[in-house]
Amino acid sequence: MTDCSSCRSPQACDTCVEREETLEEALARIEHDERLRRIRHTIIIMSGKGGVGKSTLAVNFAMSLAMAGRRVGLLDIDLHGPSIPTMLNLVGTRLEAQNGKLVPAGYELLKVLSVGFLLEDQDAAVIWRGPAKAGVIKQFIEDVEWGELDYLIIDCPPGTGDEPLSVVQTLGHCDGAVIVTTPQAVALADVRKSVTFCRKLNVPVLGVVENMSGLVCPHCQQVVTVFKTGGGERLAAAMLVPFLGRVPLDPALVTAGDDGHPYVHRYGKSPTASLIEEMALSLLNTCEGDRQEQASHITPEEAYTMRIAIPLAAGQLCLHFGHCEQFALVDVDAQARTITNLTLVTPPPHEPGLLPRWLHEQGTTAIIAGGMGARAQGLFAEQGITVVTGAPVDAPEVLVRAYLDATLATGENTCDH
Ligand code: ADP
Repeated sequence: MTDCSSCRSPQACDTCVEREETLEEALARIEHDERLRRIRHTIIIMSGKGGVGKSTLAVNFAMSLAMAGRRVGLLDIDLHGPSIPTMLNLVGTRLEAQNGKLVPAGYELLKVLSVGFLLEDQDAAVIWRGPAKAGVIKQFIEDVEWGELDYLIIDCPPGTGDEPLSVVQTLGHCDGAVIVTTPQAVALADVRKSVTFCRKLNVPVLGVVENMSGLVCPHCQQVVTVFKTGGGERLAAAMLVPFLGRVPLDPALVTAGDDGHPYVHRYGKSPTASLIEEMALSLLNTCEGDRQEQASHITPEEAYTMRIAIPLAAGQLCLHFGHCEQFALVDVDAQARTITNLTLVTPPPHEPGLLPRWLHEQGTTAIIAGGMGARAQGLFAEQGITVVTGAPVDAPEVLVRAYLDATLATGENTCDH
């Protein structure tokens, strides 16, 4: 016990004396740790805004992982709009308790718990005060009999406020976060906040998903571009976090959600379901593979800096990548979104397959190009270099600024040979 010289009753004073745990508290802590230890991987699903498809993806990722043979729990703590009960046909479920712990409801192989189960009326507006929110979140994580789980997927409330903070604090550790966005610039701006939030709390960003990206035509099933797409990918590259992929607007996703069935379960053979399942498998590989271990060797400085190469002719972007006069190598602090250095270098004489190696040796992590053939893009991918094509002819600083702000307008890949 630490004594406090200024205090008259150190035995009883909590504020100035670091108290020893009582036996009861120690047992509760051990039980809590033990319960969380039985959950092997925890993934939180976040978004900057509501209505971007966070719950839809949480349900479908959880189901995809269950279909891949994992034991999965799905926890919905979206306090202001818990939609998981509707999406899994569990509206009206009454929770039971066992040994003082809540027992999750079941949907097929999934164990499901939602704050929606606490509401008398699903349509009733609920106003939670700050401390009540934190209390409910804590209880929903700590006081639940999940049993042994391979994955716990947590559908967080939107934003970067107190609620996701309570989630991370209560969990103590989680494998990482998936950030869901839509292609519009306003939604993308929130992704930055979510990434910064995760970095501050040491939560790895497992990936960004651009949802509602294009539309699946109900007649021909082809994906039609409705709004600008690709902003999520560029933003993920600029912030050096993985991009998990795009999910188009698919009317069948709404039908499945409204009918209370996970889309990947009901429409398992559709192209959209395959996209979602591939993303879930990529999360699984990240959590169960050794990539996290590798990532932990990267220092924060390394993680936040990137070098963007831009092919130049007469000081501006050159549309013919392989025949440019020079490259601008632009160093950026991806978190602060600032350009820290710009150097001009002359490439070696043209030789097939040389530039990917050479640019890699120059420390390049991304390329902004007007056009580039598919084969060359593959060679750069092998060197771990992200390529953005279809950029307009402009000065390198202007292009990089737009890239960092996720406002870089990209058109056709102008040199696809
Ligand atoms: P959030 O959890 O972010 O508030 P939801 O997952 O509840 O968002 O989705 C909001 C609405 O959008 C739901 O009706 C859902 O069915 C629909 N939705 C989500 N993603 C898609 C998509 N890719 N295509 C069509 N509808 C979608």
